[in-house]
Amino acid sequence: MEKITFGNMALQITSEADAYEYMETLRWPNGEVVCPHCGVLGSHYYLNPDNGVSRTTTRGKQSQRRVWKCKDCRKQFSVTTGTIFHGSKVSLRIWLFVFFEMCANKNGIAAREIARKYDVAPKTAWFMTQRIREAMANDSSGKLSGNIVMDETYIGGKPENWHANDPRRAKTGFTTARKTAAIALISEVTGEIRTKAVTNVTGTVIQNMVRDNVMPAETTLHSDSAPLYRTIAKELKAHHVVNHHAGQYVTELSSGTNKAENFFSQLKRSIDGTHHCISPMHVQRYLTEFAFRHSTHDLTDTERMSRLMGQVPGTRLSYRPLTSRILDSTSFV
Ligand SMILES: [Zn+2]
Repeated sequence: MEKITFGNMALQITSEADAYEYMETLRWPNGEVVCPHCGVLGSHYYLNPDNGVSRTTTRGKQSQRRVWKCKDCRKQFSVTTGTIFHGSKVSLRIWLFVFFEMCANKNGIAAREIARKYDVAPKTAWFMTQRIREAMANDSSGKLSGNIVMDETYIGGKPENWHANDPRRAKTGFTTARKTAAIALISEVTGEIRTKAVTNVTGTVIQNMVRDNVMPAETTLHSDSAPLYRTIAKELKAHHVVNHHAGQYVTELSSGTNKAENFFSQLKRSIDGTHHCISPMHVQRYLTEFAFRHSTHDLTDTERMSRLMGQVPGTRLSYRPLTSRILDSTSFV
């Protein structure tokens, strides 16, 4: 595949038809088209518009959407059917540019910047980023094993430490404020990361996180000396601890929790610098986005974009539940 950069995308994608073709080469690189309706492979043909360029939609508008028809189920589809892009009024051309930016920018891109740069409504821009994050969450690479680093942090500071007059207390209330805790598990070998936003970090939360994401008997866990890890440690192959309170960050057996701390500090810097303030209820989506880029840091932008394009089906968010939550959240940045 040709190297993907913002520059050559802008040259190649000058119309909606171009955008559809471009996405077809990304999603169906070997021409292996699977019908999204019945799942049959390769049984399809292209429906050429009568004028060769566009067709009239039921609403009387001209559309350059490239349409295919399945010989098996006789249904029509396009490259966006059943994906996060399906049914969106935003041009696919803009979707692809935003998709690239979220894959390639180390800090992601703020919805506010998308709105300004691509001239879409702020709410639409915000929703686009959330849909792309849903695709980033759609990773099914199985459980981790080997040397795993684990750590936890609070996004936006520990609520207990907030000043009595901190405006966040009034805005979020105690329950949602607690949702800003985050846990990360990182493979020392591959850099793959699993991360989760939680209401509170307890031994049970740590146990579930480990059991859900690693194969305990094949895992050596590296953590700080917090008692939270003691129970789950019994199920693991080994548990190596660095005692931060004693000023210890590396031991003979462990290179410590630096990898997880670096992940969290980059996340926090980015939230401060790019996204400014995020609502506790959306922390998980930001974690997912940063974890996706972190897990794929060895890939080129082109490879990362292809990989994410493979995760776009089956992750459609419905607009309504998100919108109703947008209205009372402060995350619109
Ligand atoms: Zn079909």
